[in-house]
Amino acid sequence: MSNDKHDDLTGFIINPTWIVPVIPKDIVLNNHSLVIRGDKILDLLPQAEAILKYPHWPVQKLPQHILIPGLINAHGHSAMSLLRGYADDLELMDWLNNHIWPIENALVDYDFVYDGTCLAIAEMISTGTTCVADSYFFPDAMARAYSDNGFRAQVSAPVIQFKNAWAESETDHIQKALATFDDFQHEPLINPAFAPHAPYTVSNKGFEQIRDEAERLDIPIHLHLHETAAEIELAIRETGIRPLQRIFELGLMSDKLQTVHMTQLNDQEIKIITDTQVHVAHCPDSNLKLASGFCPVSKLISSDVNVSVGTDSAASNNNLDMLSELRSAALLAKGVAKSALSVNAHQALAMGTINGAKMLGLEQHIGSLEVGKLADLAAVDLSAHNFQPIHNPLSQLIYSATGHQVTEVWINGQHLLQNKSQIKCLKLDIDRILANSQQWRNKIKP
Ligand SMILES: [Zn+2]
Repeated sequence: MSNDKHDDLTGFIINPTWIVPVIPKDIVLNNHSLVIRGDKILDLLPQAEAILKYPHWPVQKLPQHILIPGLINAHGHSAMSLLRGYADDLELMDWLNNHIWPIENALVDYDFVYDGTCLAIAEMISTGTTCVADSYFFPDAMARAYSDNGFRAQVSAPVIQFKNAWAESETDHIQKALATFDDFQHEPLINPAFAPHAPYTVSNKGFEQIRDEAERLDIPIHLHLHETAAEIELAIRETGIRPLQRIFELGLMSDKLQTVHMTQLNDQEIKIITDTQVHVAHCPDSNLKLASGFCPVSKLISSDVNVSVGTDSAASNNNLDMLSELRSAALLAKGVAKSALSVNAHQALAMGTINGAKMLGLEQHIGSLEVGKLADLAAVDLSAHNFQPIHNPLSQLIYSATGHQVTEVWINGQHLLQNKSQIKCLKLDIDRILANSQQWRNKIKP
């Protein structure tokens, strides 16, 4: 079924076996209907009532499926999907200095970013992700790719001290970021943000400029922070203080700051994060792969810090599968806290949906299946033998499923993934994306 033909009056009904609305918390609804009209959720009610209230409306039956809010990837560098598997099994600074940054300087341009972002969009849609916080060079190419394909994104323009293919200097990055925000200000699916790369690659002056511009535009700041112990040691040697303290003293800590990784946190820093309402984007697979350390997720959650989950790039993961990432987040939280009670299945799904929406400032619009919110949805098929018997569909979703079981995805009420394999984006041609990826592979490693 396609909703392409719906008009202002008639929508469509989705009848899965289970619905997890995320809000209200901790519930799984059986045999309910989600009713969509236009780009929004119109109703959520028992299937028997929906038949009477909306007679003749088309019905999408999803037997043995669990319907959830579209997953929100809180941290990615989508274009780096073209570097998936390019440099693995290396420590962070070796990986960055000797492999990733040299190849980026040699090859990255507008086309690389557009093609890489399209490759990532195909993977995200096919695994149930409907929104991503993405940061990379050429954010104009990123924004164009998301807009062309009907995909929701926070497009975070990078700021970094050194010259690269996109910009000459810190100030040049900021000027180019502002121009990009202007160009895409009327795109409803694109939300702008600044992404100063990290404390070790941005000056105090750069952070102050970003702080002032972000305040003026009322947009978020997305920052890698306390990713490794080495980052802390370097900062103490060079500045005498830990990076988080420096960011605090520069006046950047607020509910507009999105911090990524946060594997090195003492109790005093957790108090600062709590008091200033800073958000944390936790990237468990990337932290494990680069041996960066462990984010104290349970401690943060018990302090009421908003923790969301991101994949980081496919070059340090090596996939963008949010269901796998939520499983890692739940398991790692239990291991780090030495408590099997840490991050249960409901909390894990909240981290991948409503918590991501809160971080992006979009919690009034996405992140849960509530009447009036935008229809960003994913349906996961639990009919296969490896999910049986289904004692608890949410446990099966978090602990047994991967993105491969996602069969349907809607963004803004548009049915973008149908029957698992048909990606119905406006401009996305999967054969062309694959051919472009192969061309880039040949350029990256001739
Ligand atoms: Zn990152």
